[in-house]
Amino acid sequence: MKPKEKELMRMARAAMKEKRLARDAEKQLERQQFPAYQPPAPNVKKAHRFTCPHCGSGCSMKQEAKNDASGCFLVIVGLLLTPVLIGIPIIIYALVHGSKTAKYWACPGCRSRFDAH
Ligand SMILES: [Zn+2]
Repeated sequence: MKPKEKELMRMARAAMKEKRLARDAEKQLERQQFPAYQPPAPNVKKAHRFTCPHCGSGCSMKQEAKNDASGCFLVIVGLLLTPVLIGIPIIIYALVHGSKTAKYWACPGCRSRFDAH
């Protein structure tokens, strides 16, 4: 290796070292600016909490399929009217409205129910 190349290599290495030192200093500065990094608090399911106003115990969300008699009636009417073609939208309407689920909070303490909106 020629002496000139050696010199270049030395300079390059020195430059790299300087760069690394600068980066370290930057990191240290960052750490000083944000001394105590705290991870975001675990997401407590606050939205899914409901305390019973009667007994104060935590309620749990329950789901119930709404089985309206009117929905069944509409399906039957729709079936009867299918030959006239008006029945098909009636069936679709009945199925859409009949398949709705009702959500409510169920209290394990006093067995009361509260509608969830
Ligand atoms: Zn209760």
